[in-house]
Amino acid sequence: MGKVINLSEWRSQSKEKAKAKLGPIPGFLVWLHCPTCKTTEYTELRIPGGRVHNKCGTLIQEAEVAIDVRAEYTVSHRNLKILEAWQKQNMESSNASQKEVNEIVGRAKHLLDQLKAGEQEFQHRLRLIAGKKIEPYPEDWDPQEHGVDMRIVHPFGIYFSTARQPDQYFPREQ
Ligand SMILES: [Zn+2]
Repeated sequence: MGKVINLSEWRSQSKEKAKAKLGPIPGFLVWLHCPTCKTTEYTELRIPGGRVHNKCGTLIQEAEVAIDVRAEYTVSHRNLKILEAWQKQNMESSNASQKEVNEIVGRAKHLLDQLKAGEQEFQHRLRLIAGKKIEPYPEDWDPQEHGVDMRIVHPFGIYFSTARQPDQYFPREQ
């Protein structure tokens, strides 16, 4: 005879499963800095032993940053919603008047497009790091409460975690 489980056991097991499904996804974001070209970019590819810049042959400075892929994805997902709301000039929650919003959006159309593409690219890379589709945390999930250091980095009010701010990893050259 197979093992029979009662309803409350079954419920607690499904809760555990749901929790595991929405738990942190550990991963690494790798920042690459070329001291010769002064370029900084990120990649999802960890290469032991380092790499040289294909443009100039200089040894690349690297910084591996441990991240919760789901946390980064969630915040990026929210950023995208904020940027889309700006594009639709539909910022009910903002303190700016409709006229002010229209002006900002008119001036910053290109920048909004760029930021949006940046978030889409970031989410694509996060899916590569995770190796699967990522479900964001629920609406009420607060990054700060879970130890993810967040900063508003833009007048549009989008959030970047410290993992997405490479300046701290590479000393500024004079
Ligand atoms: Zn270079």
